[in-house]
Amino acid sequence: MKSFATQQNGIFKSVCSLDCPDQCGLLIHKKDGKIVKVQGDPDHPVTAGNICNKVRNMTERIYDEKRLTTPLKRTGAKGQAIFEPISWDEAIDTITSRWKQLIDEEGAESILPYSFYGNMGKLTAEGMDRRFFYRMGSSQLERTICSKAGS
Ligand code: SF4
Repeated sequence: MKSFATQQNGIFKSVCSLDCPDQCGLLIHKKDGKIVKVQGDPDHPVTAGNICNKVRNMTERIYDEKRLTTPLKRTGAKGQAIFEPISWDEAIDTITSRWKQLIDEEGAESILPYSFYGNMGKLTAEGMDRRFFYRMGSSQLERTICSKAGS
């Protein structure tokens, strides 16, 4: 069976992976391999075709020419906003090399994963990052950075 990613044309059922636990049901319209329309799925038993404007207009965001498509490496001083694009291989190698060095020299608890939720859907929140850093043995963070700050 072909995956959604390889199918060029058609209307495909999906669910939103962004901010809300309800995960609105979606119909993804594809033409020539590109998503041309995102629509609420009227057959979804809970959300019944309703979605927010952010996701209704998602195609503009996905294909916007200003969207970042490669990792950026800071080459200036902090705050100068000077970056250069690098490959994914270089980015992963830069990060993992530094982590390995820190773990060897200081122990895994010298690494603090500083993040909170970002996307809050059931598919993406509290997922692989928690498992990854727990397995690494990094320091653990009370995951409520922006929530507490907002309160
Ligand atoms: S309201 Fe919008 S962001 Fe939230 S799950 Fe539905 S489509 Fe996604």
